[in-house]
Amino acid sequence: MTRWRYAAATDIGLVRQSNQDALFADDKIAIIADGMGGHAAGEVAAAISIDIVCAGFRENQNVEGLVEAIQNANRAVVSDARANPEHFGMGTTIIAVALTHDLEGVISPTLVHVGDSRVYQLRDGALRQLSEDHSVAEEWVRMGRLTAEEAAVHPRRHQLTRAVGVEDTIAIDVTSISALAGDRLLLCSDGLSNELDGDTLARLASAPNGLELAVESLVSEAKVAGGRDNISVILLEFDEVNVATFPIHRTMSTAPPPVMAKMSASFGRRRRRLTWRVWASALIVVALVVGFFSVLHWYAYSNYYLGDDAGVVAVYQGQPHSFLWYHPIKVFDTIYTVHQFLPSDARAIQRTISEPSLSEALVSAKSLHGNWELSQAAKSTTTTTTTSTTTTTTTLAKTTTTVKTG
Ligand code: MN
Repeated sequence: MTRWRYAAATDIGLVRQSNQDALFADDKIAIIADGMGGHAAGEVAAAISIDIVCAGFRENQNVEGLVEAIQNANRAVVSDARANPEHFGMGTTIIAVALTHDLEGVISPTLVHVGDSRVYQLRDGALRQLSEDHSVAEEWVRMGRLTAEEAAVHPRRHQLTRAVGVEDTIAIDVTSISALAGDRLLLCSDGLSNELDGDTLARLASAPNGLELAVESLVSEAKVAGGRDNISVILLEFDEVNVATFPIHRTMSTAPPPVMAKMSASFGRRRRRLTWRVWASALIVVALVVGFFSVLHWYAYSNYYLGDDAGVVAVYQGQPHSFLWYHPIKVFDTIYTVHQFLPSDARAIQRTISEPSLSEALVSAKSLHGNWELSQAAKSTTTTTTTSTTTTTTTLAKTTTTVKTG
């Protein structure tokens, strides 16, 4: 069994025109809401939230019921703000400790929390803060960007990173409280914690003269210290207390957990970058393949040669005897047959004679044919005129020169 005694007080403070804090406490739940928003909007947000959370928890007295009740309060405040333009921008913190039933039937205290209202645990006069403020400055302290001392005076220490009724989604910190009989819990709005330091809070909240007196002294001291905001305090003292069978300490969100959101965002970026890289490498591969085959093709057809095409001397383009799958192409039939060449040249043609271009191949064919003609002329000269060999030789030499230059 878990039982507590409680005392509670809320005060407008010395500066504010209205009290936008709201609270409720009984033997099952203690809750404070610090409302914000122009005109009476903060009061509305705080009141709606307390009503819905208390009613929801009464229906379903387990952790799920408590969390769902806060989610319902969030929806209700958001839709009220949308329906009433004068409520635009309103919201509220929620800090609540409730006695929740778990599956084993154990009843133990559970803390649920959104915003910068706080709960402290007091044992033997020492104070320990159980809640983490959802404010810009305190988040920065947790990230290591600020020290606790810097955060205490930082201009953004009052700017909330989470609140009820501001967005459609809400993240709620849920923590099982491990307490001993005689421990006290101090729940408060920032109107108390901003005015009094930890030592003062510890001293006043653990005063032995009863819970009511302790609460009164906390409120009055906060006012002495300035009372610049509404002040709300609930003090609980456990007479008996159980510990949850399966203690919880986590943030329950109606949105994907921040870590998951970050991960999926980075996955998204990764996928986009991956796609870009895949396309770039595919393009490079295609370019390399195209380049490779262009070089092959260029090499395969970079050569011309004289060859024997069924007795006719022809010019082929390509590598003799083919190159890979590139077969030579016949590009020109000369007017000569292989018999119109010297026998040694004819044999060379059958083995093919390479030239760098078509015109050079044709010149070569003509020249070789010229040699054959000269040999034919020499033969006929030898047979017909046996007397003037010297003259003929001179003529031969002249003709050779003409053919070569032509
Ligand atoms: Mn406040």
